[in-house]
Amino acid sequence: MTLYAELHRHLGGSVVPRILWRYFERHSPELISRFADYSGFEDFYTRPRNTLDEYLELHTLVESVQTVETLPYFIYRLLRGAYIFENLAYLELRYTPYLRTPEHLSQSERIDMMAEIVEVVGKASKLPEYPIVTSQILCMHSRLPFEVNKAIIDLAAQSRQYVCGIDVAGGDSYSAQRMDEWISLYDYGRSLGLNTTGHVYETTAGCYPQLLPYLMRIGHGIQIPLLYPELLKDVAERNQCLEVCPTTYLKTGTLQDIRQLKLVFDRCFDAGVEIAICTDNAGLHNVRLPFEYENLLTYDIINFEQLQACQDAAFRHAFAWPYRQRPVSLLNGLLNPQPTKALTVMES
Ligand SMILES: [Zn+2]
Repeated sequence: MTLYAELHRHLGGSVVPRILWRYFERHSPELISRFADYSGFEDFYTRPRNTLDEYLELHTLVESVQTVETLPYFIYRLLRGAYIFENLAYLELRYTPYLRTPEHLSQSERIDMMAEIVEVVGKASKLPEYPIVTSQILCMHSRLPFEVNKAIIDLAAQSRQYVCGIDVAGGDSYSAQRMDEWISLYDYGRSLGLNTTGHVYETTAGCYPQLLPYLMRIGHGIQIPLLYPELLKDVAERNQCLEVCPTTYLKTGTLQDIRQLKLVFDRCFDAGVEIAICTDNAGLHNVRLPFEYENLLTYDIINFEQLQACQDAAFRHAFAWPYRQRPVSLLNGLLNPQPTKALTVMES
């Protein structure tokens, strides 16, 4: 039975270590020759990093093997795992299409090739045997030039059958110098009717209040309740949902203890700001969505009622979930149908 919605997952961080190890064994044994065995590789791949920068560096390892030819291989295994082990009914998968094109090509050739990547990802994500509703979020990148980022927005607008929104990724501290650019890009995206989210307020160096009005959801956003709780009222009024990814903050050194998230949840609940609990990089962390839920319960950060509120919020704020209800409500309707009018008359 599929139950959950995942709103924040990177294609690059979604490959679990065992799948990546097997891929390297078959196709690029030289890349893993320095590891004595699988457990050494898993330890290297999943261990916490000191900073967000070090952590993001690891993404390049996976990006380098996710090409137009290999993407279907990885996406098949991603959806299979998400359906079987995570009970996902809905998944928004995000990535920067430019970074999946060959580096030796020119910038304009790489831009031209992005549409093919989006189509390959879109087609590979439709699997009858693992029926998850999927859509893509195309990520602009804080270190890519304006022209590439604008082309990513144009591609999102032209690929609505596969793409449900845009994002900016690549480390939130790098967005500072080019804030006017980000505002104009998001403004442009909104003018095309695109849904928007963005990696902001993840670290203390990535807090940009001027960008918030352009976002429909906030990627992470944990520094808002932690450091700038006075902003929560506006966030609630704009009906912006925070995409909170608990394990990430420990892997990047942003938080020292998962219990620091209690203040995030408490302040958001008090202010009426909704939170979708997400994995960010379920593969890189080796932590799937149900375990994110369980961890929050185990550490008394939230209770079961609050967990359900967050699970409901994920469906409400999903950019491409086609139903008005979450699956459990749909299923309940099937199992406990309302009596028809004729039956009601007979019974009375
Ligand atoms: Zn992210």
